[in-house]
Amino acid sequence: MATLKDFRNNIKPNWCPGCGDFSIQAAIQRAAANVGLEPEDLAVVSGIGCSGRISGYINAYGFHGVHGRSLPIAQGVKMANRELTVLAAGGDGDGFAIGMGHTVHAIRRNIDITYIVMDNQIYGLTKGQTSPRSAEGFKTKSTPAGSIESALSPLEVALAAGATFIAQSFSSNLKQLTSLIEQGMQHKGFSFINVFSPCVTFNKVNTYDWFKENIVNLEETPDYDPTNRVMAMTKIMETGSMLTGLIYQNTAKTSYESHVPGFKEQGLANQNIQITEDEFNKL
Ligand code: SF4
Ligand code: MG
Repeated sequence: MATLKDFRNNIKPNWCPGCGDFSIQAAIQRAAANVGLEPEDLAVVSGIGCSGRISGYINAYGFHGVHGRSLPIAQGVKMANRELTVLAAGGDGDGFAIGMGHTVHAIRRNIDITYIVMDNQIYGLTKGQTSPRSAEGFKTKSTPAGSIESALSPLEVALAAGATFIAQSFSSNLKQLTSLIEQGMQHKGFSFINVFSPCVTFNKVNTYDWFKENIVNLEETPDYDPTNRVMAMTKIMETGSMLTGLIYQNTAKTSYESHVPGFKEQGLANQNIQITEDEFNKL
């Protein structure tokens, strides 16, 4: 049986020291081992951004896609091979700006994949511009007088889009984050997990201390019922989307791919499909 070490490779992440993304990578590796996967059972698909590098740092199948397109690729992988546990990952810019159309439709489609957003409330790779998650008034190179726009609430969007699994966590809370990723991987449907992941280099407002002061941990709210959609929306709105924990889960809805046969079920798996250069040019 695989252990955490089996999901590590010898590539050293080039994230800045202290970046929250390190812990998210560790949580994914731990969760994969804890749910009993082998590296060849897991596919990690990422978008573009600092966080997009994650698919290269985990010993599993990996695909580093283009900006905002991790979800179409991840859904394609799952539709083709049902035996894989498929995980998509990317930043808040990747998933909630250019990729937002895909995010909403993947949520409502309910394909059995896990989507982790590494949410630092800024564009890190391009050196610090306002993202859809930046708060009103947030000053960056692209908004020197402060952002005029309101921040998006991904939890409200996910719930409104019909998500069957919604969780949120903080990169510093490795225990909670690992457990939520495990639950997301085991959920039979689309699992949306937003993770606060501080950008220590460019975001000097939403720091580790800021998150620690503002997070509301559902593990300290004993009466909370994650199967109650109305309660979930009320709590998200009451806390300004700062909830962490399992926010909502609906196990009654069947996943998209359970209605459609995959390559294997259609007898198409492992076929050696080759086309000539001439045929390719005519496509
Ligand atoms: Fe992390 Fe920010 Fe550095 Fe990117 S720029 S690696 S998000 S700390
Ligand atoms: Mg970002």
